[in-house]
Amino acid sequence: MVVVDALFAVQDEDVARGQLEHRRSHLPERTALDDAEAARQATATEVERIGLERLDHAHRQKRYEGEVAAVEARLADLDAKLYGGAITSPKEATSLQDEMGHLRKRQDDLEGQVLEIMELIEPLEAELLALAAIGESQDATLAGARTLLDETEAAIVADLAASAERRSIAVAEVPDEVLARYEKGRRSFGSSAVVRFSGSDCSGCPYAMPAVEADRVKFMEAGTLTDCSECGRLVVR
Ligand SMILES: [Zn+2]
Repeated sequence: MVVVDALFAVQDEDVARGQLEHRRSHLPERTALDDAEAARQATATEVERIGLERLDHAHRQKRYEGEVAAVEARLADLDAKLYGGAITSPKEATSLQDEMGHLRKRQDDLEGQVLEIMELIEPLEAELLALAAIGESQDATLAGARTLLDETEAAIVADLAASAERRSIAVAEVPDEVLARYEKGRRSFGSSAVVRFSGSDCSGCPYAMPAVEADRVKFMEAGTLTDCSECGRLVVR
C-alpha cells in the first residue's frame, strides 16, 4: 500500500470509529429501554401504594371481624344463660335482654363497617389486577427493548473490532514519523487531519490557497505528503 493511501485508510477508520462510538453513546434503543424501565417502575410504585392501602383496610377489616366474633360469643353466652333456666327473676331476664339488644346493635354496626371496608377494598383489587396486566405487558416490552439494545450494541462492537483490524493493517504501512504528524493534526482537525490537494487548493483550507503556496504543492510529485502552510493540515499532492 502506498504510504498516503495507507494514511487515508487510517483516517477513514479513525472517522468510522468516532462515528460508531458516537452512535453507541446515543442509541435510541437505550432511550427506549430507559423509558420502558421508567414506565415499569411507575407501575411497581403504584402497585406498592395501592397494596399498602389495601393492607391497611384489611387490617381494619380483621379487627372489626374480631370484634364481631367477640360480640357473637358474648351473645351466645347470654342466650344460653337466658334460656338455660338459670335466670329466676324477670328483672334479671329483662336486663339480659337489654344487654343482648345493645350487643345486636353493636354487631350490626360492626358488620356494617366490615361491609364498608370490603367495598373500599374491591376497587383496589380491581386496580391491582389491571396493574398486574399492565406490568406483565411492560415486562415484555422491557425484555424486547433490552434484547434490541444488546443486539445493536453487539453489532457496533463487531463493527468497531473490524474497523480496528483494518486500521492496524493500514497503520503498519505508515512510517512512525508520518503517523505522529497525523496524530498531532487529528487533535486540531479531527476527521480532516490529512486532505488531498484538489489541483489548485488544499481541500482542507476554508479559503483559497495563496497562489505561491498552491504552486509549491502543485509542482510536487503526485502522492507527496506536505504540510499546508495555510491551515496546517497534512496535504497530499
Ligand atoms: Zn490547507
